Amino acid sequence: MRIAVCVKSVPDAGSARTIESGTKRLDRSADAVLNPYDANAIEEALRLNETSGEGEVVLVSLGPEKALDALRKGLAMGADRVVLVSDEAAIGSDLVATSYALAKALEREDADLVLFGQQGSDSDGAVLWAAVADRLRRPLISQVAELTVSDSTITGKRQTENGYDTIQAPLPAVVAVTDAINEPRYPSLKGIMGAKKKPQDVVSLSDIGADATRAGEAGSRTTVMTLSPPPPRGDSKKIEDDGSAAAAIVAFLEEKKLL
Ligand SMILES: Cc1cc2nc3c(=O)[nH]c(=O)nc-3n(C[C@H](O)[C@H](O)[C@H](O)COP(=O)(O)OP(=O)(O)OC[C@H]3O[C@@H](n4cnc5c(N)ncnc54)[C@H](O)[C@@H]3O)c2cc1C
Repeated sequence: MRIAVCVKSVPDAGSARTIESGTKRLDRSADAVLNPYDANAIEEALRLNETSGEGEVVLVSLGPEKALDALRKGLAMGADRVVLVSDEAAIGSDLVATSYALAKALEREDADLVLFGQQGSDSDGAVLWAAVADRLRRPLISQVAELTVSDSTITGKRQTENGYDTIQAPLPAVVAVTDAINEPRYPSLKGIMGAKKKPQDVVSLSDIGADATRAGEAGSRTTVMTLSPPPPRGDSKKIEDDGSAAAAIVAFLEEKKLL
């Protein structure tokens, strides 16, 4: 089975989050890593093909060319190749524009199954898979905690507040998995060494037949009007770390009789 896994390079959770004042976009120039939720989708794709003994796993992404460094983790885990859509005209893509560019790339791959992680750790929308499935006109099963494929049918078990829903859909389909579905493998040393040699195709919007005016800022339907830090919560105190933050926190907790 040919499985396309949508993956994103995101800022490392350990790095500070700042907003670019001019564009009002998240500053994504910090160290980047593979979106942690996407490791579950890659793992599931690898397991499905290992069970059937055949197939291909292709990672599909929209992002800057430097995203390849983070996406290689997926190749090191065992994915076969990467297709990265990278284009100046795609900068500033909101959900509508991102889903358009990704759907164009996925149409070209013509995969039996398209897998997504549950959310991006930088935007946390947990909605891109629905937009892409709609554009591809394919059935979608989201929040999948257990996945099986037989013949041309896919079955996903979804966790709900009251238990589980079991949903079947014909292939080709789109599935978003949760982080409860599996434990992603660690890349082996051999996998890490071999990752750089696997095909990493960087393509432009025109390469995938996408109209540049429907991507990036031009194709976006969202305007960020204003951004502000969250208001302080109740009886709280902000401690700036000038080297004495630990002592100040202890003093604060003692004052509140919490230590
Ligand atoms: C005005 C505006 C401008 C923006 N500009 C930028 C920008 O310049 N650069 C930028 O990175 N983001 C930008 N964003 C954020 C971007 O639109 C979202 O990251 C994107 O729509 C996906 O939404 P999400 O991150 O909430 O993903 P979710 O819906 O939470 O992600 C679900 C899953 O989708 C997949 N996925 C998410 N993003 C990608 C991707 N790019 N490629 C492949 N798979 C993916 C992953 O499998 C992930 O687990 C902008 C948003 C707005 C509103």
